[in-house]
Amino acid sequence: MVNMWYSWKSVVLPILLTFLPYFLWIMNTSTEFGHSIKTNYFSNESETVDFDYIVVGAGSAGCVLAHRLSQNNLVLLIEAGGDPLAIQNIPGGALFMVNIPEWDWSYTTVTQSHAAFGMQDQKLKWPRGKSVGGSSNLNYMFYLRGNPLDYDNWARITNDDKWTFENVLKYFKKSISYKGKFAANVKHYGESAYGNMDVESRPYSPLKTEFIEAGKEMGYDEIDANANQRSGFGDIEANIRNGARWGTYSAYIKPILDRGNLIISKYSQATKIQIDNNGNAVGVYYVQHGIRKYARAKKEIIISAGSVDSPKLLLLSGIGPRKHLESLGIKVKVESEQVGKNLQDHTAVFLMPNTINQQKSLMPFRDFTMSQLWNYMIYGTGVFTNPSAAGAQAFISSSIVNKTGVDWPDLQLYMFGSGHHETVVEDFARIQGFNATILRPILSPVIGRDGFYIVVTLVRPHGRGEILLSDKDPFSPPIINHQYLEHEKDVKILIEGMFD
Ligand SMILES: Cc1cc2nc3c(=O)[nH]c(=O)nc-3n(C[C@H](O)[C@H](O)[C@H](O)COP(=O)(O)OP(=O)(O)OC[C@H]3O[C@@H](n4cnc5c(N)ncnc54)[C@H](O)[C@@H]3O)c2cc1C
Repeated sequence: MVNMWYSWKSVVLPILLTFLPYFLWIMNTSTEFGHSIKTNYFSNESETVDFDYIVVGAGSAGCVLAHRLSQNNLVLLIEAGGDPLAIQNIPGGALFMVNIPEWDWSYTTVTQSHAAFGMQDQKLKWPRGKSVGGSSNLNYMFYLRGNPLDYDNWARITNDDKWTFENVLKYFKKSISYKGKFAANVKHYGESAYGNMDVESRPYSPLKTEFIEAGKEMGYDEIDANANQRSGFGDIEANIRNGARWGTYSAYIKPILDRGNLIISKYSQATKIQIDNNGNAVGVYYVQHGIRKYARAKKEIIISAGSVDSPKLLLLSGIGPRKHLESLGIKVKVESEQVGKNLQDHTAVFLMPNTINQQKSLMPFRDFTMSQLWNYMIYGTGVFTNPSAAGAQAFISSSIVNKTGVDWPDLQLYMFGSGHHETVVEDFARIQGFNATILRPILSPVIGRDGFYIVVTLVRPHGRGEILLSDKDPFSPPIINHQYLEHEKDVKILIEGMFD
């Protein structure tokens, strides 16, 4: 509690105060703000309970679906949170926006038995966005399509060619408005009239050049991670427009706030999907401001509540493993052993501290200056435009993959060009859940020094975890048990990533 207040006082409050003039300007000039005041708490709801489609969860996926479906259908979009705040749009503050309960579900895993030894109670934090735009209001904005071989593999598993990279590429191209540095590559970045999602490269990327050059010295090529990804080092492009976060709220909902076909019910938590006697999903129960409500769907109900809350809602609705549901007294509507299973996360290790002797990394208390704020507000440039000082990235195939003769990277290294500011220990404790007692002796000697850290990440983990209900109360957090590092191969690959 003390740490949290310290972090608020030392980091978030100064940021809020710095941005006060910006907020006042927005309030005075933006009609959107007026609209937000009117609709945020009360929503643009009508008394209608019959819709063509009901979309549960207005996150990255839900906003796109609601946008497209409401072109010619009556759609209800049910979202547990409210509108995103202006402060969430500033990429430079992304790290500090996590774990704030107003817009983050702030989940934690159960105590891990093979991992998280440096974290509080050996648990990991699982931030999840809770606002219109969902986790796209909270994330680090990195635009990454994934490896073409991942898509080809899904096509093979599902026996459905629609999933091959060649076939999904046209949808990637259709969905973006590309302003990055690879525009000449028309195969991967064409023009599209539908492109709502802006993608930009970030001119301010501390230590990017040094990191990519180091990769070249080690024999790696410089790559574009979104076009035929393979082993190599390269830039990170991001969902940003003119230097500001461009999440799915800005891209898909804001432009159609007056569309009559779309009703957005904010501060509304879906508690159960109603299944009729034929096994069809026909309606959604939800609670808004403490009042229980109900809506019916004539065509379909789409659950896009994210990787944690989608299985949670299915389980609450009686769709899932029989034994688990019956143990909680939930009537089984559709028996399925798969619901809540096959949980995968990109397990990561922080490599730190790394110091440098030049003032080249981001130090918030030194670099978040008034002139930088001016640059950001007027020109959309400078230190505030970069999501948490993300510098560059590398993709590497481990020895396990190399044995197969196919270059299909299973390791991703992010380099954050961020130094060791005065409250780094308290911030990492509040935001990432590190155990400050363990972290302090490691970072204290380098406080005040420029540097960087590298996050070594498994992109194709072998271990699998699960999500269960803790009880049948829809407002209880679910049980998240990833079972990190319980698979031997994951440990071996991560160690290679740390030492190679
Ligand atoms: C801190 C962080 C950093 C990340 N960085 C990146 C990155 O740089 N690049 C990248 O590609 N990905 C990143 N991700 C992951 C990415 O943001 C998510 O994979 C993506 O946003 C998930 O989209 P979604 O639609 O499945 O869920 P979400 O966007 O999480 O949306 C789910 C929505 O459903 C709502 N909801 C949940 N339960 C209910 C309910 N019962 N009733 C009503 N509404 C409900 C939630 O409030 C939320 O708005 C990051 C994620 C986090 C948390």
